Amino acid sequence: MNAPVLQVDSLHIHYQTLAGMVKAVNGVSFNLYKGERLGLVGESGSGKSTTALAIIRMLEGPARIIDGAINLSGTNLLALSDDEMRAVRFDRVSMVPQGAMNSLNPVMRIREQIRDIYEAHGKLPKRSELDGKIAHLLTRVGLKPEVAGMFPHELSGGMKQRVCIAMAIALQPQVILADEPTSALDVVVQRQVMETLGNVQQELGAAVILVGHDMGLMAQFVDRIGVMYAGRLVELASVEQIFKAPQHPYTQQLIGSIPNLEQKKLFKGIPGTAPSLLDPPSGCPFHPRCSEAFEPCTLDVPPLRETAPSCWVACHLYEKVVSHDHPA
Ligand code: SF4
Repeated sequence: MNAPVLQVDSLHIHYQTLAGMVKAVNGVSFNLYKGERLGLVGESGSGKSTTALAIIRMLEGPARIIDGAINLSGTNLLALSDDEMRAVRFDRVSMVPQGAMNSLNPVMRIREQIRDIYEAHGKLPKRSELDGKIAHLLTRVGLKPEVAGMFPHELSGGMKQRVCIAMAIALQPQVILADEPTSALDVVVQRQVMETLGNVQQELGAAVILVGHDMGLMAQFVDRIGVMYAGRLVELASVEQIFKAPQHPYTQQLIGSIPNLEQKKLFKGIPGTAPSLLDPPSGCPFHPRCSEAFEPCTLDVPPLRETAPSCWVACHLYEKVVSHDHPA
């Protein structure tokens, strides 16, 4: 495998709330390789979006990165000043957000919003070249050049999301974060937008982290999946391994709850609810919902271990396995 373009190492993120400290991300580590598509899945509150926002240093409010490192091709992003990080955003790492409407400026034409990205990074093309460059960018994401002269309210949801993809790739970043980029779109448009994202990612040779909970979308789009539960990465493996032979009991239940035609009318959910991260359970955070829990599960947090080549699992059921410090 080539050298990782992004390394997340032992990331800890806390939210200070009136009710107490919420440990939203608890020691998450993974690598992302050039050209790779990695999915981060999990229930709401599992820490997947918080992890993505930390990578691009866009966490807000009471969120604080307590510990860890985020290394982007030799640059520890957590050590950068705000100005240095502003220069890295869009240029080396960019984000396609969840709600395009909230991220586009409603009173600016698309042309001006793309122009701003070039200007903020000192890469504004000559006046004679700018319109052509923006037209080319819009064409790459399947939009007509005329979209440049429009305001966001004149565009459909799918078109707005394509504009966000165009903005995300304007400076050809190495890493693109996509946080549930199609959650507000109908399934046909969803597929078109994901195809667009996949095509431009391949053209750029960029790596993508897709955050979401739609396992069908993950199956079609990503190479590897990281399963998050209660702020921890509990399994990290190829998409084939996750779907054909999931190892962690939570992943097994997650895959088992995907509806299929054979099991029509039989709805299988995961019993219980995700734990409060204000006061998480001792030991393995999944133990109150796990049918395979045994003695050590309530006492010790299972570390992420390599149980088979390139397959990492955090579960006491897999004690006698090879162990490395940092998941590949
Ligand atoms: Fe279940 Fe124990 Fe494994 Fe946690 S560590 S998933 S409780 S068997």
